Amino acid sequence: MNSLTADDRSQVTREATVTYWKHIVPIVQIAFAIHVLLLGLFLLVDVPVMWMTNAVSVTAYIACLLSIRRRLYRCAGMLICIEVIIHAAIATWCVGWDSNFYLYVFCIVPIIAFGFHSSPVRRRCLNTAVLIVTVGGYVLRNKVPVTSISPHAQDLFGAVNALAATALLLHVTALSVRFNLTMHMNLYQSAHRDSLTNLYTRRRVLQRLRQLGGGRREIPTALVLIDIDHFKQINDQHGHDLGDVVLQQVADVIAKCVRTTDIAARWGGEEFLVLMPNTPFEDARLIAERILTHIREEVGEIRQMSLNLTATLAVATLQEGETFRDALNRADQRLYEGKQEGRNRVMLAE
Ligand code: GH3
Ligand code: MG
Ligand code: MG
Repeated sequence: MNSLTADDRSQVTREATVTYWKHIVPIVQIAFAIHVLLLGLFLLVDVPVMWMTNAVSVTAYIACLLSIRRRLYRCAGMLICIEVIIHAAIATWCVGWDSNFYLYVFCIVPIIAFGFHSSPVRRRCLNTAVLIVTVGGYVLRNKVPVTSISPHAQDLFGAVNALAATALLLHVTALSVRFNLTMHMNLYQSAHRDSLTNLYTRRRVLQRLRQLGGGRREIPTALVLIDIDHFKQINDQHGHDLGDVVLQQVADVIAKCVRTTDIAARWGGEEFLVLMPNTPFEDARLIAERILTHIREEVGEIRQMSLNLTATLAVATLQEGETFRDALNRADQRLYEGKQEGRNRVMLAE
């Protein structure tokens, strides 16, 4: 269960639709190219119904590409689906079942399925139309005499259409899967990375802890809590925007000082936490010292100003029989004492 409001859902649908069409646009371009080719071909073999149908299709794909550019995705989706269904029906009627034109309707199945904006009724109508063309075409295959082209040309169309439609279906499916993965990655990024600093979020720290089985191992899990000193004054004196830049600079320094196996996270407003799996206390202390040195030396040079930034840090390791919350409370208590003792130091919570 999720607690998304109707407004949230509509935003999700909008974002998913934009991302899907970004992925799917090559299919529309390929379909456009195929129809230009077919238009030329039917002009050449002189089948008026078919070249006229293809001329309409080419116009439909131009309108579709323009709709995508103007972000009218509902319109683009309808244009593609109607074009493919009607074109397949006419071509099957004129050139025969064996010409395999009906295969193209399968290419729009993913587009119907991923049409987030479509109403259920519209989707059902499109699905029914796909069924009518395929099942109806098969049932009537011997009842309509094909007079427009020779059996040899029909065979050729059959082979080329089977190849093109199958390749197109494979491609549209692959793009739809890629879209799905992109959405998941975006979701992961939003849930696990802080949007201001790009450090991990609290959620990722807790997830990593679960993966570590609580963190109490032979070599323990260490944590370093980092709190910027007098940060409120920076906001008050220089503005919130500059405060944000300082947070980004501190985050960059922390990310640079830790190892790839560590999880550097923004824990709260101007508070950061580094989770260090399999790290003895002394190693964690050295990394904390390094972070403090780099914050002092590298952060605070902003817009020709020097802010003399410092931070107070606390180092702890998860002890036998202790939860992460217990170790965090110990570190928090030592951090508080560090603030009382004058800030700008690394406190040991051992
Ligand atoms: P201390 O040395 O005792 O830690 O003092 P401090 O001023 O750093 O701590 P305090 O808790 O009094 O103030 C923290 C400030 O951080 C208050 C809040 O407005 C600011 N802050 C929290 N999140 C953000 C943020 O995302 N951007 C900016 N610019 N400021 C933030
Ligand atoms: Mg604080
Ligand atoms: Mg602070």
